[in-house]
Amino acid sequence: MNDIYPTFYKKFKCIANLCPDSCCKDWDIDVDCETEKYYSCVEGNLGDKIRKLTVTDEYGERVFISNNGKCPFWNQNMLCDIYIGLGEEHLSATCKNFPRMSVDYTDFCEHILSFACPEAARLMLEDDNAYADFGGENELSACENSDDYMSFLLKSRERTAKMLLDRSQPFAYRLADCLEFNAQIQIILNGGEPAPLDFDDTEPCGCGFIFDMHLNFEIMSSEWKDKVALAAKNGGELKISKEFDDDFEKFVLYYIYRYYLEAVNSGDVLYSIKRIICAYIVTSKIEAALKAAALPCDRLRILQRYSKEVEHSYENTERMNAEFSKDKRFSAQNLILMLEAMV
Ligand code: SF4
Repeated sequence: MNDIYPTFYKKFKCIANLCPDSCCKDWDIDVDCETEKYYSCVEGNLGDKIRKLTVTDEYGERVFISNNGKCPFWNQNMLCDIYIGLGEEHLSATCKNFPRMSVDYTDFCEHILSFACPEAARLMLEDDNAYADFGGENELSACENSDDYMSFLLKSRERTAKMLLDRSQPFAYRLADCLEFNAQIQIILNGGEPAPLDFDDTEPCGCGFIFDMHLNFEIMSSEWKDKVALAAKNGGELKISKEFDDDFEKFVLYYIYRYYLEAVNSGDVLYSIKRIICAYIVTSKIEAALKAAALPCDRLRILQRYSKEVEHSYENTERMNAEFSKDKRFSAQNLILMLEAMV
């Protein structure tokens, strides 16, 4: 098995109480069976507190009861009482692993860090060559003879990544080209012959429907909701800065390497591309709207928060995929016209 890591992966170290948006808030903390078994024998006040605050949620998972949206063991110094009292080795698997994520494709395994962690996001935005080993010879040779489908997806993913990094074009055009290319890939995956997209019945529309969808999502932070609402109201005509596009390239590679190969199970390459387009519209317009209103604006935090609010929410991702399937405004043709009109 080939294990493939982005270059920044091993540099990651949790910055704990210096973190501007801890993973100890907004999310439920899962307690896996093995860790709960250990907790059942911990003596003293900490053991009693852990057992009292471990409950079964509506999905049947064992979790710590949230304390106003925060982990009940996240103390006033923004440090973890379980880490302090029992050591890192006795954190639940979720806490021990985050933001590390792995996807096992049988012939190879890709490891990545989540953009929802601000420190991981910082490492990704600072690294110009983060995914140099992804899609390389190791991966291609691992499945060259054994799996034509995966081999095809790996090649189309590499072509997609190259198109997204082609700085001779504005980023919105690159996204449009990449969507058109993947619409052809999708036809091939569906067993058809590639053919030019038919734009005859497509009426271009603005990006308001993408904001409507995001405002109807489950949103954890009112600050985030306000930013999306501001961009929905004022962002439509605002131009995207080149600096934003340069950083978004790193975010887009993260998305591509994290999600494109899901098509090996779903048979759909367009979901991941459409999710990237939504992320681009919302985050770029938030930055533009904040700047236009002379409000504080931190690009890393906008991208990181998008990852936390949308990408890491199972409910929101499911809703988005459902909209892609049923709302014609998410057709490849409409999104291409919308992107081209942005430049
Ligand atoms: S989000 Fe990242 S840096 Fe912040 S507390 Fe969690 S793991 Fe540490």
